[in-house]
Amino acid sequence: MLAENVLIDSHCHLDPNYFKEGAEPVLARARQSGVSAFVCIGVGGLVEARYACALAAQERDVVATVGVHPHDAAQNDAALETALTELAAGERVVAVGEIGLDYHYDHSPRDTQKAVFRRYLQLAREVEKPVVIHTRNAAADTLDILESENARDVGGVIHCFSEDLAFARRALDLGFVLSFSGIVTFKRAEAIQEVARWVSADSYLVETDSPYLAPIPKRGKQNEPAFLLHTAAFVAELRGQSLGQVASETTQNALRLFGKQLVVG
Ligand SMILES: [Zn+2]
Ligand SMILES: [Zn+2]
Repeated sequence: MLAENVLIDSHCHLDPNYFKEGAEPVLARARQSGVSAFVCIGVGGLVEARYACALAAQERDVVATVGVHPHDAAQNDAALETALTELAAGERVVAVGEIGLDYHYDHSPRDTQKAVFRRYLQLAREVEKPVVIHTRNAAADTLDILESENARDVGGVIHCFSEDLAFARRALDLGFVLSFSGIVTFKRAEAIQEVARWVSADSYLVETDSPYLAPIPKRGKQNEPAFLLHTAAFVAELRGQSLGQVASETTQNALRLFGKQLVVG
């Protein structure tokens, strides 16, 4: 693959909960397929947050995030907040997240999800880092909280974008960017595809969200960063651009959002 085609996986889970063989072979396959950097999401608990940070310390093309996923909001307490605040200040931690609201699964009570979401938006402000937002079936509340917490001051990304154009406009108005995952390649994803065609060159990223939701033609397999190319190629086709253009735009956008820690080479 040509150098200008290198892609950044702006959102992947790499911990041993998903990849029993460890992250190394997964990263090796992705590098082979043209992925030049990885934003490794450290959520699920303190163990996973520490894992992401350790991987980022060890691998020069990996950076980490730490946060409390809305699924786990009920597990949040003062001790976890203190530990995550310390980790979030680390040099290789580029964002706080993923945080947000998930009313599809409702693994934690909605009021708890909202309160914890606000806490971690405030934490991001403290450590002066952007946020990675997870939102599912909770569009209105997510936007309301981002607005009322002045999230534009920290900025961030709506990861695994699966909302409509109206949501996209409001997110961009807040200074956020949108990240497209394998979902954009699915047949019933017309609304998301419309947004991918519409979004301006400086406001989108691509991601795998491994190990979930592998893009077509890998659908049904365990997703991994090596599959990012399929999503990027699909987005390029939607936008009437070359893969190289999409790679270049998304790389610039990732660097602007996550900072120079992502620069490899
Ligand atoms: Zn998510
Ligand atoms: Zn995720």
